[in-house]
Amino acid sequence: MFYRRKKIISSITIVLFSSGFLFGQNQKASLAKPAAKPDQPKLVIGIVVDQMRYDYLFKYWSKYLDTGFKRLIREGYLLKNANYNYVPTYTGPGHACIYTNATPSVNGIVGNDWYDKNLKRGVYCTEDTSVSPVGTKSSAAKMSPQQLLTTTITDELRLSNNRRSKVIGIALKDRGSILPAGHMANGAYWFDKETADWVTSTYYMTDLPKWVQDFNSKKYSQQLLKEKWSTLLPIGQYSESSDDDVKYEGMFSGETAPVFPHDLPSIQLKDKDLIKKVPMGNTFTRDFAEAALTGEQLGKGNFTDFLAISFSSTDYVGHQFGINSIEIEDTYIRLDRDLSGFLDFVEKWIGHNNYLLFLTADHGAADNPLYNIDQDIPSGLFDAKLVDSLVENDLSGLYGTGKYIADFTGNGIYFNASLLAQKNISAEEIQKKTADFLLTMKGIAAAVPSEELKKENCREGIMALIQRGFNWQRSPDVLFALEPAWMDMQSKTGTTHGTAYSYDTHVPLLFYGWNIPHGNSVEPVYITDVAPTLAVMLNIEFPSGNSGQPISSLLKLISK
Ligand code: ZN
Ligand code: ZN
Repeated sequence: MFYRRKKIISSITIVLFSSGFLFGQNQKASLAKPAAKPDQPKLVIGIVVDQMRYDYLFKYWSKYLDTGFKRLIREGYLLKNANYNYVPTYTGPGHACIYTNATPSVNGIVGNDWYDKNLKRGVYCTEDTSVSPVGTKSSAAKMSPQQLLTTTITDELRLSNNRRSKVIGIALKDRGSILPAGHMANGAYWFDKETADWVTSTYYMTDLPKWVQDFNSKKYSQQLLKEKWSTLLPIGQYSESSDDDVKYEGMFSGETAPVFPHDLPSIQLKDKDLIKKVPMGNTFTRDFAEAALTGEQLGKGNFTDFLAISFSSTDYVGHQFGINSIEIEDTYIRLDRDLSGFLDFVEKWIGHNNYLLFLTADHGAADNPLYNIDQDIPSGLFDAKLVDSLVENDLSGLYGTGKYIADFTGNGIYFNASLLAQKNISAEEIQKKTADFLLTMKGIAAAVPSEELKKENCREGIMALIQRGFNWQRSPDVLFALEPAWMDMQSKTGTTHGTAYSYDTHVPLLFYGWNIPHGNSVEPVYITDVAPTLAVMLNIEFPSGNSGQPISSLLKLISK
């Protein structure tokens, strides 16, 4: 047996590859600030920038306007050392964590997808077969927050005043809208590629409000895709990024090279989801968010309202082109302009001291492994499909022929429980043997049986992050984590995220507006601290997950 296993390992054909901050001068604030500070903001605006690394705040500093990201940093409060404290660092878990005061172990959002051991199929983090689409016929809109097990800060706001606060969630990605908006939202809207409209589900309402219908009738996304995507500034100025035509970047359908200008009018004929994948998707989101402010009269009532926005397009551009591409730089330069325009809109709508804004990200992103290797940084590509088949072979060798793996995800393996029962194989034994087998493979940093995670409490290192991401009912039977700078990707281009390392866990965290003082801190804070911090500012109960702590360095500066 040992010989056979060694043979399998030696035949592994996994592709192995052994392998500045600049602040400008203080800008004069041109914003009118009323002398009297209200005790509570009339409006909270949460902004999540999907896949925004912390360093993007400063990498493109010289290209940003004075009134976008720079305004938040120069007038607001920046946490420079804010991290996720669990794996896997994916979009669903990230958005859930920001708003719940909990990690996946408690809030239940253990991935964008996971394998449901009772249903015996994969489930999506916001799927809900009991609801119907609203605004489209597409079954892809059968969505709700029913998989989220704990309350959100947005729920707590609504619970605090007998549902008088309004809560609206907006993102091109359904999960980026639904999870932040919580269980009690007045509405959560996302993009439907079949209609090119903002849609929702019967979980929230039976018909789209008039302001959403009016916005949809403009078919604005199609206008935004009418021109080719060229760089906003002359392309020679994008010196922070790699050359335009490099092997690390993916292409749009029909392209022969990953270069500007990208011919959006012709690409969109073949790709109904294109608006999500280009920076114009952020402009589309911003415009819809402004329509929500006026359409719902957010901040104009007697109770604090909450608008939760997530900019999804940054993530799609990152996945396709990678973090060092001109495309991602141009996307952030354009997002900065959109942010500037949006802040101006909000200031006019409600006034600087009447709204509290925070900005963060749902995870970061890594450098492309091939790029790392070219820079002499140890890195590698992990071929999950191949490892899946190797584990299956190993188990067939141990226990006889059969399909033992029910699902192989980015961070673990689910076993076929019926087959295990039929063959009388103990969960402890097969998990232990599989974890040991995984640990023989290059690129695997840790592999742990879920039976061990149920019994032990891991407090340090990568195992602690795995434990905080582990929910025994939903997580895999064997969990694993990759080595630093290793990536599970089939395409070899672009990037991804999901690991326990700082490139995926370290994200911006900014508070701005209302009573927020100017300042910054390098104290370690976790994204689980965002919701408790907001709860203290809003004088409401903490979300039920109970993992994070209010950020004291910021709160003690806020005068009451
Ligand atoms: Zn994401
Ligand atoms: Zn992503």
